[in-house]
Amino acid sequence: MSTVRQALAALDREAAGRSMMDLAAELYPIRRSLTGDGVRATLERIARRIPLQVHELPTGTPVLDWTVPREWNPREAWIRDPSGRRVVDFADHNLHLVGYSVPVHRRLPLNELRPHLHSLPEQPDLIPYRTSYYDETWGFCLAHRLLASLREGEYEVLIDASLEDGSMTWGECLLPGSSSEEVLISSHVCHPQLANDNLSGIAVAVHLAEALARVPERRYGYRFLFAPGGIGAIAWLARNRDRLDSFRHGLIAANLGDGGAFHYKKSRRGDREIDRAVVAALAGLGEDLVTEDFFPFGYDERQYCSPGFDLPVGVLTRTPWGRYPEYHTSADDLSFIGAGALAGSLAAYLATAAALEEGPGAPASRPAAAEGGRKRASGRRYRNLEPFGEPQLGRRGLYGGLGGAGRKDFEIAMLWVLNQSDGEHSLDDIAQRSGLPPGVVGEAADALRDAGLLEELA
Ligand code: ZN
Repeated sequence: MSTVRQALAALDREAAGRSMMDLAAELYPIRRSLTGDGVRATLERIARRIPLQVHELPTGTPVLDWTVPREWNPREAWIRDPSGRRVVDFADHNLHLVGYSVPVHRRLPLNELRPHLHSLPEQPDLIPYRTSYYDETWGFCLAHRLLASLREGEYEVLIDASLEDGSMTWGECLLPGSSSEEVLISSHVCHPQLANDNLSGIAVAVHLAEALARVPERRYGYRFLFAPGGIGAIAWLARNRDRLDSFRHGLIAANLGDGGAFHYKKSRRGDREIDRAVVAALAGLGEDLVTEDFFPFGYDERQYCSPGFDLPVGVLTRTPWGRYPEYHTSADDLSFIGAGALAGSLAAYLATAAALEEGPGAPASRPAAAEGGRKRASGRRYRNLEPFGEPQLGRRGLYGGLGGAGRKDFEIAMLWVLNQSDGEHSLDDIAQRSGLPPGVVGEAADALRDAGLLEELA
C-alpha cells in the first residue's frame, strides 16, 4: 500500500474492530486521572503498539495562564457503614472516588458524610463520574439506590491517596511525512474507566497511527497527542508555541465506539480544509454525518481554537459528549462500545487522512456564522487580553459563587465572549451566534473586563 487511500481500501474492519476492543479492554481498569501513574500506565500500553515519546512536566510549571497541578495517585478508598461493612469501595469501580480527592480517614455521622456523596437520582443504578481538580475536597460517587438505602449512624471513611509535587504526563507519536507540515490527532487520556468517552478515541487514534505507519508515501507528518484534557492540551500548546504554524489540520478523537451517527464539529473559522475533508470523507464512505458550527466548550478545541491560536482543528465523534444517557456514568462501559462502530470510526479517520493527502478540492462554502462578524453590528467590541488557551476563570473568582439560575448561561457566555473577542465580533454578534440572551452576554463581558481579561475597543 503506497497511499492512505489504498490503506483505507485494504482495511480489515473485522480485525481492526476486534483489536480496538482488546485495547479498550486492556486500558479500561487503569486508574487514570489528570496526572499520576494511571496516565503513565496507559501510555506504556500505547507505546507497546506505536512509537511514543513520553513527556513529564513538573508540578508548578507555568503553562499559558495555568500552572501544572500537583500529581495525584490514589491507592485505596472506601466507606464503612455503622455495622462495619464496606458499602462503597474504590476497588470495585474507579468511578467511586471523586478524582483528585484529598486523603482523609475519619468517622462521621451520615448527615456530615452526605455532602461528600454524589449520585444520579434520575439514573439510580449508575455511578456518576466526578472530579475536583481545582477545589481541594474529597468525595465518593455511588448509585443513588445505594445512597438512599444508607441508614443513620456513624460511618468510617478512608481515602489513601497522595496529592503532592510530581509531574504531569503526556505522550506523542510522530509519523513524519515528506513535508514538514503536520496533522494533529488529539485524544484525552484522563478518564478513569469510561469506554466511549475516552477509550474509544484512544483506540481509534492508536490504530490510525498503526495504519498510517504502514503507508510509505505520506505528504503530511501525523502527530498523535495523548494528553490529559484541558491542562494537558494547554501544556502542549505552551511547549509547542513556536511551531504551531506547521499544523495544517487537526482532529479531536473521542466518543467513537457507540452506535450513533457521525457528528463533526467544525473548526472555529468553519471554512478550513479539515472542515471540507471530513465532509468529503464521510460522504465517500456513504456514512451519515451531522455537521455543527464551532462552539467554545467541549473538549480541547476550547484550547486549540482559542482566538490566539485559532488552529484548524475540528472534532469528529459519533454521538457527541453529553448527548447519550450513559455519558460520564458507569454505564459507559465496554458493553456500550462495539467493534463495528470502532472500525467504522477508524475508516472515517483514514478516509479523512486520505482526503487531506490528496489536497483541497472545491473551496468549502463560507460559513453562515462568519456573516455576523462581517456585519460589524453596532454593539461593543472587545479584545481578549489572554487569547492563548482558556484563561483560568476559577482563580479570578469567575467560576462558581455567582449563584442564581442563570449561572450556567453566564459561564457559557464568558467562554463565548473570550473566544470571539478578537476585535472582529461585537457583543451583538456573539449573542446572535451563541443564541444566548444579549443581557447575559453583556454581563459576562463586564465581568471579564473587570477581571482584566478584556479591553474595550473604540
Ligand atoms: Zn469526558
